[in-house]
Amino acid sequence: MAGILEGKNVLVTGVTHNTSIGFAVARFAQEQGATVLISNFGRALGITQRIAKRLPETPPVLELDVTDADHLANLPAMVREHLGEEATLDGVVHSIAYGNPETLLGGNFLDGPWEDVAQAVQVSAYSLKSLAVACRPLMPTGGSIVGLTFDATVAWPAYDWMGVAKAGLESCSRYLARDLGPQGIRVNLVSAGPLRTLAAKAIPGFGDLEDMWKTRAPLGWDNSDTEPTARAVGALLSDLFPATTGEIVHVDGGFHAMGA
Ligand code: NAP
Repeated sequence: MAGILEGKNVLVTGVTHNTSIGFAVARFAQEQGATVLISNFGRALGITQRIAKRLPETPPVLELDVTDADHLANLPAMVREHLGEEATLDGVVHSIAYGNPETLLGGNFLDGPWEDVAQAVQVSAYSLKSLAVACRPLMPTGGSIVGLTFDATVAWPAYDWMGVAKAGLESCSRYLARDLGPQGIRVNLVSAGPLRTLAAKAIPGFGDLEDMWKTRAPLGWDNSDTEPTARAVGALLSDLFPATTGEIVHVDGGFHAMGA
């Protein structure tokens, strides 16, 4: 049986380690028939190049700092260098976030300095718009953009300014859905429960969130299993949700729907 992403070209950002949600998405996309490119930035690029070899097929690794205007402007050329001059993208995955863990996370909310907040919002929320605009020329007949959030409708222990950045990301995805819908581009988010990735382990107090999931998720929650999240991203990238945009799909063991 053909995979749900057969024949599609998909760019997956934010792959640093094999624990990264982006890594699981890239693997699932390849298993489902997609041609995948992955990206990361800066010093971690070498790690990404090594980790890429652990995927079913070693994908091209692009250098993309989502705050770097030159990288964003060169993105279509980089994609076409690997996939051919006429290549288009069918799917783009935004799996990127950063907030200084010492100043913005772990209970320092009232002291969070603006410079660090500005960086967190730029990297974690504004970058969805930056990435979408950079990829738009590669999606002339439409496609699917999927990002990752951590439910920003409530205040969490420890998550602090990253929660504010995620609220921005969630709103940004709805405005992008509005403005890119006429071009046939869908924009959706997956809201995942706590997963033990590099970014998560850097959050002081992340264990408090994990403990909440142990008692409240009716389906249970495995914080080391990125596969359910990757599958939801894959489904949103596929043709299975042709009329869905501006949506947030929860992959959290049902936690968000429980009162206590
Ligand atoms: P991760 O493996 O650390 O992935 C985050 C990625 O963002 C890393 O590859 C990181 O690169 C990259 N990044 C940071 N700044 C960047 C920039 N300026 N340009 C390009 N890339 C940049 O952690 P993850 O948990 O898989 O995170 C992926 C997404 O899932 C994030 O949006 C995160 O908020 C979201 N999410 C995570 C959880 C969770 O519990 N883990 C739950 C819900 C949602 P470096 O490693 O080189 O810094």
